[in-house]
Amino acid sequence: MNNTCDIAIVGGGLAGASLAVALAPLGYSVKVIEAVPYKAAEQPSYDDRTLALSHSSCRILSTIGLWESLKADATPIRKIYITELHRPGQVTLDSAELGLTEYGHVVEARRFGVAVTSRLQQLENIEVISPARVKDIDIGGATTTLHLESDGVESELQARLVVAADGANSFIRNRLQIPTEFRDYGQTAVICNITPEIAHEGRAYECLTETGPFAVLPHTGTRCGLVWSVASDRAQEILELDDETFITRAHERFGNKLGAFLKAGKRSAYPLKLARAKQDVRERLVILGNAAHAIHPIGAQGFNLALRDAAVLAEVLADDYADDPGASGLLHQYSRWRRQDQRGTIAASDGMTRLFAHPSTLAAGLRTTGLLAHALSPSLRRKSALKAMGYRGRIPRLAMGEVLRPG
Ligand SMILES: Cc1cc2nc3c(=O)[nH]c(=O)nc-3n(C[C@H](O)[C@H](O)[C@H](O)COP(=O)(O)OP(=O)(O)OC[C@H]3O[C@@H](n4cnc5c(N)ncnc54)[C@H](O)[C@@H]3O)c2cc1C
Repeated sequence: MNNTCDIAIVGGGLAGASLAVALAPLGYSVKVIEAVPYKAAEQPSYDDRTLALSHSSCRILSTIGLWESLKADATPIRKIYITELHRPGQVTLDSAELGLTEYGHVVEARRFGVAVTSRLQQLENIEVISPARVKDIDIGGATTTLHLESDGVESELQARLVVAADGANSFIRNRLQIPTEFRDYGQTAVICNITPEIAHEGRAYECLTETGPFAVLPHTGTRCGLVWSVASDRAQEILELDDETFITRAHERFGNKLGAFLKAGKRSAYPLKLARAKQDVRERLVILGNAAHAIHPIGAQGFNLALRDAAVLAEVLADDYADDPGASGLLHQYSRWRRQDQRGTIAASDGMTRLFAHPSTLAAGLRTTGLLAHALSPSLRRKSALKAMGYRGRIPRLAMGEVLRPG
């Protein structure tokens, strides 16, 4: 193995692999180091989760050449219904109100993994090193050194820029003692596929409860993706229910909007936590994706936000294509550009989660007022919809359909 490169991406999950594809036309030599083989059942990034991809994410994926292989298995979201459990008011977001055919699409994370990893294999200047785990990092001077371990064999890799995309428990973030804010929401998302009696026709439902959202997303064929967020101390019980009881309980909570639930798939659970690095760049280092900001899935924004970060990083590296992709001015340019969108998106998901969990009557009043205001005001709905679609602040060129070229 050649042990130098321009850009080393640690973690080839959803965020890291997408960044690598976005960087491909720029000519940098890029290495992606991924600890868990892509085809392994325990691959943590490409699992059974259904991802709601925003309008801007779908455009980014289309511009970097990934959408073509995803679209056959992507389901459009045409309408979104938002309610609060046992309270009045419903907000209906209709993509036709914005003159669009859809707000975004739903894709299974596992399917995304197949598309992105086969694309990576076709790209000449991208090398995937997997299975290999980064065990240490030395920053300083003209390059950063990563210490890797693969099947008991140790090696070193020198890169001019390291992107830490190694997930919410980021080894690199911890190793470099980057200050990070953590919050345990005490909630766990139980997810599975569910087949309702009535066709979803592109409708997504999110019922907000004091233990997080109960969401039903349109999925391929007759299926829907279910995300049922419960108090963490009840998650095991929900996981262990037999299928029939699970279906009955889920249906009781959701109501009859799509008729009876006929079938449920395999269930998995995700404890929900906020992890937010207080710095997203350091000398020759960018922190990306869940490593930088793992957020509550209440607004389905985690990967969408990471993809916009990746699009901006690629744009900054394209415009200043030059001698040093790790130059500090360039990294700070990236960080400044991303601040507004990151702050807004994280504040919205964290704020909503806490507002809905709060038992006070004041919080309940604010929730109802917020829902009613959205229900009654088309301009408020439009503003919120544009943010949820990923159009907040300065928009990266990849999200406008413009292919990036070096320099
Ligand atoms: C229930 C649920 C539903 C969600 N729904 C949505 C949604 O609808 N829309 C949306 O946009 N987002 C959603 N998200 C968020 C989304 O899943 C995350 O934003 C996304 O997984 C982050 O990807 P990542 O690549 O940053 O991190 P990860 O997916 O954690 O990937 C990190 C990768 O790094 C590798 N790695 C770790 N350490 C090392 C190391 N030392 N060396 C080498 N490799 C390493 C890991 O093996 C892994 O492959 C949801 C999340 C949950 C929990």
